[in-house]
Amino acid sequence: PQVVFSGIQPTGVPHLGNYIGALRQWKNYHDASFSVEATTRHSTEQYFSIVDLHALTASLPKEQRKQLRKESFASLLAIGLKNTGTTTVFFQSHVSHHSELMWILSNVASTGYLSRMTQWKSKLNLPDETSLDADEATAVLKLGLFSYPVLQAADILLYDTTLVPVGHDQLQHVEFTRNLARSFNSYLTEADGKPVFTIPEAVVVPGKRIMSLRKPTQKMSKSDTDPRSRISIIDSPEEIRQKLRAAVTDSLTEISYDPETRPGVSNLIEIYKHVTEIPASCHEIARDNQNLSMKGLKDMVSTAIIKELGDIRPRFLQLMKQDNEILTEEIALGASRAQSKAGAVFSNVQKSLGIS
Ligand code: ATP
Ligand code: MG
Repeated sequence: PQVVFSGIQPTGVPHLGNYIGALRQWKNYHDASFSVEATTRHSTEQYFSIVDLHALTASLPKEQRKQLRKESFASLLAIGLKNTGTTTVFFQSHVSHHSELMWILSNVASTGYLSRMTQWKSKLNLPDETSLDADEATAVLKLGLFSYPVLQAADILLYDTTLVPVGHDQLQHVEFTRNLARSFNSYLTEADGKPVFTIPEAVVVPGKRIMSLRKPTQKMSKSDTDPRSRISIIDSPEEIRQKLRAAVTDSLTEISYDPETRPGVSNLIEIYKHVTEIPASCHEIARDNQNLSMKGLKDMVSTAIIKELGDIRPRFLQLMKQDNEILTEEIALGASRAQSKAGAVFSNVQKSLGIS
């Protein structure tokens, strides 16, 4: 059977980019595991984690961290995920094996390889060609941010994961995970001679990144300080219409698709295509709507988004009410389900190292 693992950072309520680029696929895996075919034959198991240990690379006041974690969990339940069947939704910090396996993996992870990864550079806003011994880099780079891919490898390997749905930016991390797993397997075997780790494959979610509504050459992001730059999955229909109306476009009158010269309009067309999943290209969508006014295009896109997000907002608001029992129960259930799977894999790792 296939095992899917994917994570999201508790850095805010997910936005439309997260939804199209990740969460909608999570929901698809969840739903597909309930299909008649899945229950009779190739059933998948899926683990969806709120990676709150990864989020510790950014410092935050405690109360804010608590709130963000809660909102993130409620968001996953609101889009329709649930600890049932073969789906597990959990906080990474509730399963101590993530940190423990990270230490073990650290003993085969090459610092040279880690220093060539681009994520720590982009988080520190350093150019990609910055080398680790550049003074500026070592002065500000914390070990946690630098070794982030090792924790990510632990996340993936702990569940015998076969498939990792990721965006393009994460591909190098999955490749790193595969390398680590192979290095370990080459000298570690289970009692019955099987390799300890399953080698995972990345599944790249199709579709371009959704760009910011305010700065359409930058990606839509939870950490952008301007909330008008993104559509949150819990925005009200009125908020969605307002944000779309305020989206940066240009003053040309016709609608056309050209991400280079018309990034704003092109992003709206891109959003429309991915939200509706219509089988037309962006050029075709632009041609079919070329006589719309900019306002007309924006209204068409808002309507499509509002329809796709459906009742995520009321469900989220319900889950966020104080002492919501469903939220509390799901958090506990997710923790125990994840612990039992990860515990079994971790115990094999311990045995194969002679430290059980
Ligand atoms: P942050 O600014 O805190 O990094 P983020 O918006 O980039 O937040 P992540 O938690 O880093 O969100 O990513 C969660 C998932 O959403 C990942 O699979 C990532 O590839 C995807 N994703 C993030 N931003 C976009 C986007 N603009 N378009 C499409 N997919 C996205
Ligand atoms: Mg990100």
